[in-house]
Formats: sequence, structure tokens, C-alpha cells
Amino acid sequence: MAKISINIATGSLQQEELIVGIDLGTTNSLIAIIHPDTKKPIALKDVDDKVLVPSVIHFDENGNIQVGTTAKDYLIEDASNTIYSVKRLLGKSYQDIVDKNAYFSYKIIDHDADSLVKIQIGEQFYSPIELSSFILKELKERAEHVLKQPISKCVITVPAFFNDAQRQATRDAGKLAGLEVLRIINEPTAASLAYGIGTSINDTKQIAVYDLGGGTFDISILRITEGIFDVLSTHGDTYLGGDDLDKEIVRWIQEKLALSDQQLYADKQGYAALRLEAENAKKQLSYDTEYTFKHSNQEFTLSRSEFEQRIQPIIQRTIQSCEQALRDSGLSKQQLQAVVLVGGSSRVPLVKKMVADFFEQTPYDNVNPDEVVALGAAVQADILAGNTKDILLLDITPLSLGIETMGGLMDVLIPRNTKIPAKAGRQYTTQKDGQSGIRISVYQGERDLVKDNRKLAEFILSGIPSMPAGLPKVDIQFILNADGILQVRARELRSGIEQTVDIKPQFGLTDAEVEQMLLDSIMHAKADIAERSVVEAITEAENLIQLTENFMHKHEAFIVPEERSAAMQAIAVLQEAMQQRDKNAIMHANEELNRISSPFAERVMDAAVAAALKGKTV
Ligand code: AMP
Repeated sequence: MAKISINIATGSLQQEELIVGIDLGTTNSLIAIIHPDTKKPIALKDVDDKVLVPSVIHFDENGNIQVGTTAKDYLIEDASNTIYSVKRLLGKSYQDIVDKNAYFSYKIIDHDADSLVKIQIGEQFYSPIELSSFILKELKERAEHVLKQPISKCVITVPAFFNDAQRQATRDAGKLAGLEVLRIINEPTAASLAYGIGTSINDTKQIAVYDLGGGTFDISILRITEGIFDVLSTHGDTYLGGDDLDKEIVRWIQEKLALSDQQLYADKQGYAALRLEAENAKKQLSYDTEYTFKHSNQEFTLSRSEFEQRIQPIIQRTIQSCEQALRDSGLSKQQLQAVVLVGGSSRVPLVKKMVADFFEQTPYDNVNPDEVVALGAAVQADILAGNTKDILLLDITPLSLGIETMGGLMDVLIPRNTKIPAKAGRQYTTQKDGQSGIRISVYQGERDLVKDNRKLAEFILSGIPSMPAGLPKVDIQFILNADGILQVRARELRSGIEQTVDIKPQFGLTDAEVEQMLLDSIMHAKADIAERSVVEAITEAENLIQLTENFMHKHEAFIVPEERSAAMQAIAVLQEAMQQRDKNAIMHANEELNRISSPFAERVMDAAVAAALKGKTV
């Protein structure tokens, strides 16, 4: 099943590892791989032939942990020890979720509003990261059981709107579950990969991904250019989903049985059973036009059209989100080449119809909407494993990365739009004799002067042994890994002293800010180029002045007073031009100083050569 390859370093045979794709969902999670024979993505099943693992964790009184279907059974009977929807808490502080506390039936600790949430189970406290890791561990074990080989590498999907903290929390949960998370990818990106959209180099498309799950809704508009996915806009409601449709059916039953709210909610078990009945009814109505509810010798029939009438306002809210997302993306419906449906609730015929009507096109729905994200994660995993030759890796750096050089200029090492991972290096030297340290300031942005860019880090490579200016060789390497972490390494090659820093260039940077930075660079391009050439001329002039002064000092005996005063005057003129920041005047004065100083420089050289020859016998 698995490939065998040779480890070049050790010469040993090694089994090539399968990288799995994981959809860590709010309601359900699942794990997928690319089938080694068919090369098609498949979701892995448990012993009962089920693909979905409910994202539910139950703790019994002995501290034993159950995950999935068995844990789900405890949701009603042991609510305070049963955790669901933990994804909603990932990377969140208590402050973030305070108004949603009623949604959770387990205990969320509120000691410190600013710190990350903790959940109390008995005497134990768990972070959402730990809880998520239990789900991931369950998925890992399922895969190992089915595939009969250890699994240690994965790709995990997250909603496009997840921030850095939420992505990091997901990554940490993977680590805790014993998984190396090779890549975190956006759920809409995964969904489109599952449909093969964006998998070829020539694919340039704009698409909408409509994701209606059990408790959340989101819509994302993506632009795919040469295999690179850009999220143009997202919108949604994190508390809107299939559960709301179930509640409409519960309400219908409540009306039919003429139950008061109190009667309905008093019996917790009975209410839970009704919710389950309603969910089954909803699913049936996706295929049948009627559903019949039986209660003490009575029968009530709910037609699909009545159901649709009841849920229409709920679906309409998702359409309003679509409208907003489309507006934010700056695209028209006609500019979208595809609309992809994701999430179990997108099976509801009215959902399909309203989405089709709104976007004026038939949405893609032939991949199972429960599995489509995990299948896409498996496609991405396969790409990362290098099994798909004609597919690109999907990430690029949105802004250039570089360091500050003389005169505050930006020296770009990794230009924007470079595919990551990426590596670049360049050598620099000192400006002054005996200079023992060199300051390295790292910037991000498109402007020519660092003052207009975003400073990421600054450090000093110190301890350079005393050498004349220009002699030390400081090698700077930029290594940008697949996670977007930039490692900057500075090394003085003659002495071997070295220093390294790790930077996260995208941290705290919004798409809007990136866009603004690009826009600014275009708007100021002309002025920037002019300013750069002034700075370059000044730097050159400074070097020449220093060189001349050093020379005159060292070879005093060779220079007549007239020459000295002429040189001093030329330096004064040059300095004046530098002060004025007049590029042409600087270059002019530079030449003049060169002209004046070259005769005595030549004389010194001749004398040196003569002296050297004197000692020699011909
Ligand atoms: P997800 O969060 O994507 O796993 O979606 C789960 C939601 O999809 C739940 O609300 C399910 O009731 C709903 N769902 C699953 N199958 C169907 C179906 N055939 N028709 C309507 N809703 C469904």
C-alpha cells in the first residue's frame, strides 16, 4: 500500500508515510487520505462504517475519556461532563465568549477575563487545545487502525476567518495529539481542492464557497491564480445552522401537540428525543416531499413546502451574508466561475435553490458535503507529500522581506509573491574600521525606504573581531518556512560568530493592511525611486569623503598644501550638495573630488611600487 523509498542520508530503506487530511469540525470531525491505488481522496470509516466522528468528548467519574458517537450519548444524561462545540472556544478568551455562555452546558472558567478559556470537569481543568487534541487523537487512532501503519503528519482545516491565535491553537492541539501539522489550510480552499478547482497551474478562477453546517454558517469568496488561493472576503454567522432548522420542526410539533413552552422544556430527555426526531424529519424532507409524525394514535404530516415556508427566513439570512461577501469582494455574480456547497445542511433542497437563484448558477454539489473539506485536506496533504507533480504549493508571501542598508534603504531579500518555503541570502560588510557590531533591521513592505515599511525585528550581530572597514563578510540568510515563519541568520564568515532570530511576518497584519501597503507603493513609486537615487548618491559620497580623508592623513608627506586645500574645498562643496539632497549636484561634486584627489593618489601608488621594486634584483 505504502511506497518504499531510500533515505539518502542513512542509505536505509524507509516506508513512505501517509499524510492525512483532517476536518476538525464544530459538530463532526473526519479524516481522509488519498487512496494509494485509485489516487482519489477517501474518508476513513470506523468499525460501524461511519465516517463522521461527532466532535464530542465525555469524561466519566474515573477520568476515562470517550470521543465521538459514544460520547454523544451522554450529551443529555451527563451534560456537565460532556463537551461539544469546543472549536468555538479555540484561541478565545473568556471575554470573547461571555455573551454566549448560555450556549454551553459545561463549566467555563471565568476567573480572568483576558486569559484563554478553561473548562472544568470535576476537579480537572482543560484548555480547548487539550480537548481538541482528544478528538484529533481519536482520528489518528482510527486512521492507524484502518491503515495499519503509524500516522504522524497531517493537514488540518480551519475556517477562513480564523485568526492567528485560533490557527496556532489548532496547530498546538495537533502537536498534543502526536501529530505534526504540516499545514493549516482554509476550509473553503480545501473544498475547492476536493472539486479539483485550483489544482492546475493554469487555473485562474473566482469562486464562492457556501458552508452551512450544524451550528455555523460561512460564505467565502476566493480568487485562485496559478494555484494560489486568496480569500477575497468572508461573511457568516457562527450561530446559524442545521440546528435552527431542527428547532423549526420542534416548534411545528409543539403546535400540533398544543404544548406550552414549559411542557416542552420541562422534560429534558423528552425534549432531546424531540430534537432528534426533528433532525430525522429534516433529513427525510431532503429526499421525500412529506414527513409523518405519529403521537398517541394520531398522525401529523409536514409537507416539504410547509417546512420550506418555515425555514425560508433562516436561509434568507445566509443569502444576505452572500450578498455582503460578494459586495466586499468587489466582484459580480457573473465573475464567479463556480459556487461550491459545503456542510450537511446544504443538502436541504431549499438551500440549493436559494443559493442557485442568488448566484444565478447551479452550485457544485456532487461531492458529499459532509466530507468535502476533509477530502480537500487529503488532496493538499498529497501535494505536500510531493505525490502530485503538476500541482503547485499554495502559499506565497504577500509582501517583500528585506533589511535596512546604508541610508535607510530597503534591501529586499525575498520579493513579494515568492512561493514559500523560500530561502535567500546576501553578504554585507562594515563601514568603519574596527567596527565590532552590525545592526540588522528586518522589514516587510514594498517601499524603497525602510521608514515607510513595517519593521519586524532588529538585532545586533556583535563580537566582530577588529578589522578594517569592508573586510568583514557578514552573510545574512532569510529562511521562510511553509508556516510563514521567517528565520533571519547573520554570520560573520571570517570569525564564524553568528546570531539568529525567528519572526512571524504576517502576525497582526490584516489583508486590508497588506492591500494598503501595496497601493501606497504604487502611488509613491516615482517619488520613492527619486529618493532612493539621492540616498545612493549620498552613500557613495560619504564613502569617497572618508576614503579621501583617510588617505590624506596616512600619506601626509606626499601631498603639497595646495592639493590639500583643493581637496578640502571639494569636500566642502560635496557636503553642501549632500545637505541640499540634490542628486545631480552630489554626483557632480563627487566627480570633482575624484578628479582632484586622483593625481596625488597615483603619486602615492607610484612611490609604493617604486619602493617595492627597489629591494628587488632584476
Ligand atoms: P456538518 O456540521 O457539516 O457536519 O453538518 C451537520 C448538519 O447537517 C446537521 O444539522 C445535520 O442535521 C445536517 N444534515 C445532515 N444530513 C442532512 C440532510 N440529508 N438533509 C438536511 N440536513 C442534513
